[in-house]
Amino acid sequence: MNDMEYIGFCPICEAPARFKSTEAWYREHLFCMSCENGSLPRERALASVLNEIVPDWRNRRIHECSPIWRGISLKLAREGSHYLSTQFFPEYPTGEIVNGFRNEDLQKQTFPDESFDIVVALDVMEHVFRPQDAVKEIWRTLSNGGVFIATWPISNRLVQGMRQRAIEDDHGQVKMLEPAVYHETMIGDGRSLVTVDYGYDVHKSLAQWAPFDVRILRFHDEHQGIIGDYTDVIVCRKREAESGYVRLIKKAK
Ligand SMILES: [Zn+2]
Repeated sequence: MNDMEYIGFCPICEAPARFKSTEAWYREHLFCMSCENGSLPRERALASVLNEIVPDWRNRRIHECSPIWRGISLKLAREGSHYLSTQFFPEYPTGEIVNGFRNEDLQKQTFPDESFDIVVALDVMEHVFRPQDAVKEIWRTLSNGGVFIATWPISNRLVQGMRQRAIEDDHGQVKMLEPAVYHETMIGDGRSLVTVDYGYDVHKSLAQWAPFDVRILRFHDEHQGIIGDYTDVIVCRKREAESGYVRLIKKAK
């Protein structure tokens, strides 16, 4: 395939930019040529949504789990005035600094309630064993009105909500339920097991796991170089305490 190039505006650089790919698989190859170490479509999609829904994100308390060493994570770290990133090293105690990161298990965090206004997770949720627990914990650690903003591949119309590919028992032993699939990662041995497939109706599951209002935004935006497969951005907003479902009781005559 010939190299493909798009000219537009990068929501991470926040400047005119060129997006270039040497492969047809844009999800991993359509890089912004101006972003620090590049950026990929899903990362530009997340930045675009973040700029839109929390324009003052630079002043908010941000927790990013498993950051990447390019574009969006570097920008959040550099420009966010209250930015904290975590990684999970299961062999070390949580809540402590390991290899320069706060060590946290997303499914069982040591942060107090309402510690953050924004939680960011770029392609993390397909690698946790218990997404229900992770989502509950993200909800707990968000302030009222706070947002969980994330990307992960949502592909399977045949899966209802989610399908577990692998489980972990109480002793940390992993049992495969489906053939093993790995994604590249930036820590450990460079590969990360895919534990969960998410179905088309995952928005309902998210709202059941924690009282979030859920939006899933799917892009095709050549101007911002957001093209190709799995460009979805998942936005879960923690409801204000007083809003939500209210049961109406008929007045007795
Ligand atoms: Zn850029």
